[in-house]
Amino acid sequence: MISESSHFREMARSLGADFVGIADPEGFNNPEYRGNRPQDFAPWIRSIMVLGVIIPKGCVDPLPKGRAEYTNTLMAGTVTLRVMGFALVRELEKQGYRAMLVPSEGSEFGTWYANKETLKADLSLKYAAWLAGLGEYGLNQLLITRETGPRIRMTAILTDAPIEPDHPSGKSFVRPECASCQKCVKICPVKALSADGTIQPHLCRDYLFSTLGGLRCGMCIRVCPL
Ligand code: SF4
Ligand code: SF4
Repeated sequence: MISESSHFREMARSLGADFVGIADPEGFNNPEYRGNRPQDFAPWIRSIMVLGVIIPKGCVDPLPKGRAEYTNTLMAGTVTLRVMGFALVRELEKQGYRAMLVPSEGSEFGTWYANKETLKADLSLKYAAWLAGLGEYGLNQLLITRETGPRIRMTAILTDAPIEPDHPSGKSFVRPECASCQKCVKICPVKALSADGTIQPHLCRDYLFSTLGGLRCGMCIRVCPL
């Protein structure tokens, strides 16, 4: 493992990341994982650096009012992630490694980056974040962090730099509080979420990009008590 491990973590924080975690790509070989594997398009990767920013509470609380402001604040988070991610990619390559930046979470979901039929990205940021010990899943299908619940945005860097990985928290895959809560399932205006932990992503996508004309919904984040 490279000795610069802490250097890259500190650099991410100094660029503005609220949290950083390193996932071992081997975790994507877990037979229970159902998404795409980053090794299938970048077979050389040895580390996945997950970066995140906290989405300000002030833009979430008024929902469903203030959707334009909520959407714009999310997009500002996305831009911030791209800028800091690109700086880290450049730094890694300056030091002789290969690196690339994957699409930021939720940035153009369903309309640009994701597979048009499955709506799955080439890499599940949420699963990478879970591997890196940054949180667990909620019934709203989002990563639930310890600090700000689902009120986050993430991106990731794939690199052949062998950075010391973090590990899953060891707690359950889905947050245990969800079983007796289910607020996100009940509030979803298009019934995209189910109490059994599944999602119908096309219903969510169609609501955001057809009904709301591209504005984000955010109600499954707004009601989450975590
Ligand atoms: S963003 Fe809105 S439509 Fe999509 S799953 Fe959450 S509550 Fe449902
Ligand atoms: S709203 Fe409730 S059920 Fe949904 S993710 Fe948050 S805690 Fe879990």
